[in-house]
Amino acid sequence: MDTTSQEEKGKAEFKKTCDGYINQGLQSNPTIQFLIQNLVDMGCPPPAGFMRCLDCEGKPVSGGFGMLQEDSMEKSSSSSLKGERSNFRDKPDCTRPRQDILDQFQREKDGKSKLSLRPEIYICQEHVAGPQHANTILAHELIHAIDMCRSKMDPLHNCMHLACTEIRAENLSGECNMSWEFMRGKLDGWLGHGQKCVRRRAIDSVRANPNCTKNAAAYVDAAMERCYKDTFPFERHPNQA
Ligand SMILES: [Zn+2]
Repeated sequence: MDTTSQEEKGKAEFKKTCDGYINQGLQSNPTIQFLIQNLVDMGCPPPAGFMRCLDCEGKPVSGGFGMLQEDSMEKSSSSSLKGERSNFRDKPDCTRPRQDILDQFQREKDGKSKLSLRPEIYICQEHVAGPQHANTILAHELIHAIDMCRSKMDPLHNCMHLACTEIRAENLSGECNMSWEFMRGKLDGWLGHGQKCVRRRAIDSVRANPNCTKNAAAYVDAAMERCYKDTFPFERHPNQA
């Protein structure tokens, strides 16, 4: 077997395992089921294939929400953008060269195109460590889906919206609960730790949007108080006693 087909086989193996985690989460994880039921109840039922496992080509990302769409505003649509909208991309935006993305944002600034997010959740199949990790990623991205459904949120162009949904997703998915055992008994310290972790991770996520890179920390700090305590659709923080 040559290297290419061996590589393809490896990718297929990752995909199969990762797809299995998604199915498992849908069938047996109460948090995933609760979040999806809420999307349905809110009038945003996830379409088939809403959650997918993708090859992120080694980029240091575990998953994501939304695929960038670019609509040309120019009269002649014979530009290179033609057809991009209808292409069903099998690679997440993070695998594209950074300059590509920056150019896309610049074209919008210049009034040549309009960017939007197609709501969709992906897991980077080669980075998912196991079923629990997959569930955490899915919970994070489902919080974004819920925020997109519940308000006219525009995380591409409004950095406060982005900061808020990232704070909520980091906080409510349990991504910052890893040291729960270690800190048990030190509730104040733990709460402080949790919030610090949420802040750090949210800043990283906000930075990834070229429109928000510059003042990412300021956006997160400005949104922190309001969005950290906003636990919708949970009645309270799902991992806190
Ligand atoms: Zn996020």
